[in-house]
Amino acid sequence: MGTPLPSQTDVLIIGSGIGGATLAAGLAGSGAQVVMLERGEAIPASAPARDARAIFQRGHFRPQETWRDGGGRAFSPGTYYVVGGNSKFYGAVLLRYRREDFEARAHAEGETPAWPFPYETLEPWYGQAETLFRVRGCEGEDPTEPGHSTRYPHPPVPDEPAIADVRARLRGVGLSPFSLPLAVDIERWLAGGKTPWDAFPDTRSGKLDAETAPLAQALRDSRFRLVTGARVRRLLAAPNGLRATGVEVETSEGLQRISAGTVILAAGAVNSAALLLAADMANRSDAVGRYFMNHNCSAMLAVDPRRPNPSVYQKTLGINDFYLSDGQGGPPLGNIQLLGKVSGPILKASLPWVPERLLGLLARHSTDWYAMSEDLPRPDSRVTLDGGAIRLDWRRSNMAAHRGLVRAFRQRLRDAGYPVVLTRLFDQRTPSHQCGTTRMGDDPATSVVDPFCRSHEVSNLFVVDAGFLPTSAAVNPALTIAAQALRVADHIRSQGIA
Ligand SMILES: Cc1cc2nc3c(=O)[nH]c(=O)nc-3n(C[C@H](O)[C@H](O)[C@H](O)COP(=O)(O)OP(=O)(O)OC[C@H]3O[C@@H](n4cnc5c(N)ncnc54)[C@H](O)[C@@H]3O)c2cc1C
Repeated sequence: MGTPLPSQTDVLIIGSGIGGATLAAGLAGSGAQVVMLERGEAIPASAPARDARAIFQRGHFRPQETWRDGGGRAFSPGTYYVVGGNSKFYGAVLLRYRREDFEARAHAEGETPAWPFPYETLEPWYGQAETLFRVRGCEGEDPTEPGHSTRYPHPPVPDEPAIADVRARLRGVGLSPFSLPLAVDIERWLAGGKTPWDAFPDTRSGKLDAETAPLAQALRDSRFRLVTGARVRRLLAAPNGLRATGVEVETSEGLQRISAGTVILAAGAVNSAALLLAADMANRSDAVGRYFMNHNCSAMLAVDPRRPNPSVYQKTLGINDFYLSDGQGGPPLGNIQLLGKVSGPILKASLPWVPERLLGLLARHSTDWYAMSEDLPRPDSRVTLDGGAIRLDWRRSNMAAHRGLVRAFRQRLRDAGYPVVLTRLFDQRTPSHQCGTTRMGDDPATSVVDPFCRSHEVSNLFVVDAGFLPTSAAVNPALTIAAQALRVADHIRSQGIA
């Protein structure tokens, strides 16, 4: 760990994921002393990082931790404790929420609330986040795309030849496939090995993630310090509960206390809620841990036995034709995007009884999609503590919309010439898009943090991970977390807090 931990700092950030690292980048140069505590370590460059069997079959990078589900069954969560957090494994799709996602909306199985501010409020920071993560993209192809005041900093990642053909086929059946906005330097990524990047860890080899983009920027400020292997065990507050005073943190040196003028909690939606619940902090609304959301997602393999798909990365197309409605004036169904190219070793992790060779044959003829539908906020979908351990009782919602999405897209794939479409729902053990547990809102009676992610009760506590999201929308969350983190950093600076 090197030099000893300071006992005091101006700003303390817990967690180096998208929220924490981007907030740190936003505070760089402010003059404040900032300490970031991260329980994990940086992922070393090593063979397992590009080995599909190590990653998907052996769970090489998964934490040695079990959570319990609503029925009390133990499971190993697909969440990662490393420098950069879950973004090290992400698919690097950096989509903005659509303008309509900020408004109250009727869905197949209920309503979603309006955000406390409209899309236009966050728009400038979306542009800044796209610059920070050096996003490759192209405006104007997606009919649901909200207005941009800035252009994508780089042109899109090119379709591989088989995917260019898929794009043309889907256009032929009336869909509007668009280039996914991606935070990946494709030449660098492929130089490290001919693999997809989706769910493969980035060992600083081409993905722009929380570590390689915002954290790298924060580390250029001499007043910023990252401490790894530092797990916050307890949040500390003044006796009246109105101010955070610091944390108790466990490192290889043992348990220590650090006091701080401002505390930024960014441990991920599940872990931040767990820390707040354990400290009985910022929870007068009883909303901490509730409203847990995690998209309803299915993998869809479109198989054409006559046409092989030799793509390496594949993941360059999205489809939002069913995003705002089902196409016939009905409720929103969701987003479709390509998965990273699946292979025999990847499929084997979900289908262990099928020979890997057969799965490899299937994968060579499949184009692999990810269908994603909005999960609606419900108070009974929640994180609680069970004797100190995490219990995640995710109550899926809006499955009618998800089934509708899968049905509608399956039909278009058949029309586009894929005779076989295999689908599989992602299960409860994969909280990849976890959010909502420290929801943002204007009303302290029903939300945990205000529109600048500051606790309604604890005046120097901010929560800036995916927990603040009041709705999950049906696009990937990371860019919205990053944009809001930059906005919160500017607010903190403007208030003279840092
Ligand atoms: C396989 C996969 C693919 C994905 N693909 C995409 C995608 O293409 N696009 C997209 O937008 N999103 C994607 N996501 C989701 C995205 O990665 C997350 O939404 C985002 O990274 C969440 O950021 P966060 O800051 O909320 O939390 P996290 O990433 O969870 O970061 C929290 C950090 O806090 C640390 N921490 C936790 N507890 C403590 C503690 N007690 N003390 C100290 N540190 C602690 C953790 O180790 C971690 O580093 C994907 C996720 C996965 C897993």
